Amino acid sequence: MASAMVLRAPGQPLVDEPRQPAPPGPGQILIELGACGVCRTDLQISEGDLPPKHLPIVPGHQAVGRVVAVGTGADRWKIGDRAGVAWLAGTCGVCDKCRSGRENLCVRATFTGWDVDGGYATHLTARADFALPIPDGFDDVAAAPLLCGGVIGYRSLGRSGIQPGGRLGLYGFGASALITIQVARHWGCRVFVVTRSKAEQERARLLGAEWTGGLGERPPEPLDAAITFAPSGDVVRSALQAVDRGATVAINAIHLDRMPEFPYQELWWERRLASVANFTRQDAAELLRLAAEIPIRTEVDRYPLGEANRALAALRDGAVKGAAVLLP
Ligand SMILES: [Zn+2]
Ligand SMILES: [Zn+2]
Repeated sequence: MASAMVLRAPGQPLVDEPRQPAPPGPGQILIELGACGVCRTDLQISEGDLPPKHLPIVPGHQAVGRVVAVGTGADRWKIGDRAGVAWLAGTCGVCDKCRSGRENLCVRATFTGWDVDGGYATHLTARADFALPIPDGFDDVAAAPLLCGGVIGYRSLGRSGIQPGGRLGLYGFGASALITIQVARHWGCRVFVVTRSKAEQERARLLGAEWTGGLGERPPEPLDAAITFAPSGDVVRSALQAVDRGATVAINAIHLDRMPEFPYQELWWERRLASVANFTRQDAAELLRLAAEIPIRTEVDRYPLGEANRALAALRDGAVKGAAVLLP
């Protein structure tokens, strides 16, 4: 039976509700889902750290499945095609940002599972021009974590300015970093990972990190770029202290606890802090192509759709090893 896990109010558990999918409107497709990833942003919306923009809302923005109905004008898609739906649900298409390849910055952008219902459901309606073709070689479950953590990690690599063979620091080692390190290693980068968890340090070494350390430890040489994944301003500052002159720290976070005050000397010599906001369809297409080529391996913890609350709790408690994925 068609159903969805619905957030009625922040701080309350999601409610399992029957939901009969409506036929897709003009420019839309209806997807029967095979998997949806669980992201920290879903947790922040469900707990109210990110105020919901629309209630009730179905969270989830790493959804993969098969097209079961095509609205008028959406004939790029055929019934049976495999489609993914990610964080960017739509943009205006006409503002200066949209017209200059920076649709991730569109002020009229809408987001899946925040403005419009997302993938914690058996079915999902999406804008046909924002749904993503999923390459063969990944089943739905393996593809889901690529659609947020993977793509945003890929955009973070770009924002950090890391070059092939360069020295890259990764601060925090969750679902996004697990994918990012595989791209960085594919490019021949030397990777240095800082994370509190011994298990994550071990996992990072298995994926090719040449050095790992705990919070407060400094990699043995200056870094050419760093990416921070932890939602902590103090972690951003320690990354800044570890990078070389002219290097960038890319902040892969939609929400930081705060930014600490620090002496200008730590930023001087043309070091840069760069935030990373959303991603473009171009980023997603590039990452999916690269993921099939490398190929990227994702490690997932599976949960039945009806146990979304348990999956969110596991993420909050740090009990998820790779990426949590819900199965309808
Ligand atoms: Zn996400
Ligand atoms: Zn726009």
